[in-house]
Amino acid sequence: MQRDLPPSVLFAGRTSLSEWAGPDSPERSAPSSDHLTGLPDRRALVNGLRQRLVPGAQAGAQASELALLMVGLDDFKTVNDLHGMAVGDQLLCQAADRLRACVRVGDLLVRLFGDTFAVVQSAAHQPDAATALGRRLLAVLAEPFHLGGQMVQLGASLGVAVAPFDGDTPDALLRNAERATYRAKADGRGVLRFFEPAMDNLSHARRELEADLRQAVAERTLHLAYQPQVDLASQRVRGVEALLRWQHPQRGNVPPDAFIGLAEACGLIVPLGRWVLEQACRDALAWPENVRVAVNVSAVQFRRGGLLVDVLQALSSTGLPPQRLEVEVTESVMLTNAAQALGQLHELHRLGVQVAMDDFGTGFSSLSTLRSFPFHRIKIDRSFVRDLPDSQDARAIVRAVAGLGRSLGMATTVEGVETDAQLKVVETEGCSEVQGYLFSRPRPAADLPELIRTLGCPATPAPA
Ligand code: C2E
Ligand code: CA
Ligand code: CA
Repeated sequence: MQRDLPPSVLFAGRTSLSEWAGPDSPERSAPSSDHLTGLPDRRALVNGLRQRLVPGAQAGAQASELALLMVGLDDFKTVNDLHGMAVGDQLLCQAADRLRACVRVGDLLVRLFGDTFAVVQSAAHQPDAATALGRRLLAVLAEPFHLGGQMVQLGASLGVAVAPFDGDTPDALLRNAERATYRAKADGRGVLRFFEPAMDNLSHARRELEADLRQAVAERTLHLAYQPQVDLASQRVRGVEALLRWQHPQRGNVPPDAFIGLAEACGLIVPLGRWVLEQACRDALAWPENVRVAVNVSAVQFRRGGLLVDVLQALSSTGLPPQRLEVEVTESVMLTNAAQALGQLHELHRLGVQVAMDDFGTGFSSLSTLRSFPFHRIKIDRSFVRDLPDSQDARAIVRAVAGLGRSLGMATTVEGVETDAQLKVVETEGCSEVQGYLFSRPRPAADLPELIRTLGCPATPAPA
């Protein structure tokens, strides 16, 4: 095994199968095993598939027993960025060893590229055999890796294409296994997905949306809307949340829920989030000095590790005092590498930047997250407010979170307040701030100075 070769052989910058060398590529003369892990490489996989696939019409019994499993390590890039490539290499070797131990004689295990492995499995009963093997592969990769005194835990996502239904050529199988893997990644960690024809359309639509979004980010055609947060004790606007807006020439207004996830999946959230930070800080300069600007920050920005630099850059280029910036994070920042996320949160804290826990009450909402960091604010998700004032359960949760905030010295902001009756409940339950259509919908930056003046003493809420 040639594990001591330089890591540069590894990362030819290939991140997707669509960047594969075609049949006429000079790469066809490359060796057919991977230097780092000693596993066969993608060329061996294509050859292996070709041999095992009975062509065209004869693709009967034999071929129907063939499954291609593609497994990608989640967050491998973060390990490389944080711990260096040598540790990344160790991780890949350990992952390869674990996968080796799972496959049977006759299966073909390869390292496809970067952080992605594949197994060609011939078995009597598909898709059951692929499901069983896929689960084993995911289970072994979910175990922590011990890398030079450090413990690193990451998940994997696995996609399966079965011949001949999902393709009877190596190319088609690879393409469809990749689509299934892409879906598995989008559906969360540790997930196995079989290819479905609908993924074809979906991935086409996603690719188009991604291309449009890429263009919008490059051409800076996205903009920010701002929604005030009103302090209940002083009845004044104390903060304003920045919310991304994308007005597409053909698609119309694309809501953030339809593109933030995509931007996260393809990494665009990093430049986009950087722009949001800087623009929001710049816009906030036009508001009274005691009004903060709150910016939503994605877990991906944390994981990629450049968030602090982006925050510092936004503050220094605009001159906004750090105390006027608040970042809103969700608990997902803690899911991958809690220690790394906490380190960054503490750095922000040291800078004087405020940190809010967004969407509290949904997802995990573990109390240990609240204990692990002195958040300035807890934001109670609007799904609870929607059911007020009638739902006793929702009211009990609002009361409990407000009490928790008081005990922990954290403010509580309630999102999505639309009616006077809802406002009354959250006031009675002792929340500190509210945000919602009752006071204002998100509005363009230019409207904010006037809006803040109008809402300055909102004894009677302003019309939406
Ligand atoms: P969020 O952070 O929970 O933002 C609050 C959402 O609630 C916003 O939706 C806002 O328009 C909406 N909202 C506020 N008041 C009311 C109300 O009274 N009633 C109702 N029905 N809705 C209300 P929006 O703008 O569609 O944003 C959706 C999500 O997209 C945000 O949820 C946030 O998670 C994400 N997002 C928006 N901008 C950014 C951004 O710049 N970066 C990142 N990473 N995520 C963003
Ligand atoms: Ca938010
Ligand atoms: Ca929220």
